[in-house]
Amino acid sequence: MKLRLLQELRWVARDLLLTVFPCRCTVCQNRLETFEKHICTSCYSLLPFTRLHGEQGNIVERLFWERIPIERANSFIRYLPDTNSSRIIKSLKYYNKPGIGIFFGRAMANDLRDTDFFNDINLIIPVPLHPNKLRHRGYNQSTQLALGVSQITGIPVREDIIERIKDTDTQTKKSHTERRENMEGAFKKINDDAVKGQHILIIDDVITTNATLLSCAKELVRKSPNTRISILTLGLAGFHPLITKAPIILPNP
Ligand SMILES: [Zn+2]
Repeated sequence: MKLRLLQELRWVARDLLLTVFPCRCTVCQNRLETFEKHICTSCYSLLPFTRLHGEQGNIVERLFWERIPIERANSFIRYLPDTNSSRIIKSLKYYNKPGIGIFFGRAMANDLRDTDFFNDINLIIPVPLHPNKLRHRGYNQSTQLALGVSQITGIPVREDIIERIKDTDTQTKKSHTERRENMEGAFKKINDDAVKGQHILIIDDVITTNATLLSCAKELVRKSPNTRISILTLGLAGFHPLITKAPIILPNP
């Protein structure tokens, strides 16, 4: 516990340093080259990429099978505690680094660019934050990712279709069932017409269980049977057996 606190304090100190010297790598703090942004080439290459490349029937898709019909699903990197990947996601969520979202949104889209993943998607919806959280954080990290994806694909981002009406606490200490119950009724669709007959890509930062995305997707398709859903996240965390049993592919050092 003490070690963890020290680690957190070190990260906060690093972030203060990054505010003063913004041209340093988010992970290792080394000075970035002029062609690098947010993360140096070396740290980037060592990220635990899922290498799913949007392939059909992948582990992310299987998290939603029998719960809600989804077209496609993909996650870009594995979220492993106390590693470069968790450092990236924490910086995006908690340390006021919205630019990292755009950067990784673009990277996720480039990773899928040569596949048919985006083929007939009409619009992108980032998982909304509750207004209280949005006010506190200043930006929605999922919107930043969505904007990055949109820059590469040209698919529009819509934030006027669904809103978060339940200000849920952190889910990290809750069981799978508690998380699902906690997320029930968390979202409200406010624009029915905009989703009719559309194929929507929902974007979120991390899948831990599928509770948040499931709740958001269910609300989007409620009373809109012709609406289709796909899912894209930056991180894939591991509590679900499907994830924990999947091999972790780390690049060669
Ligand atoms: Zn680095």
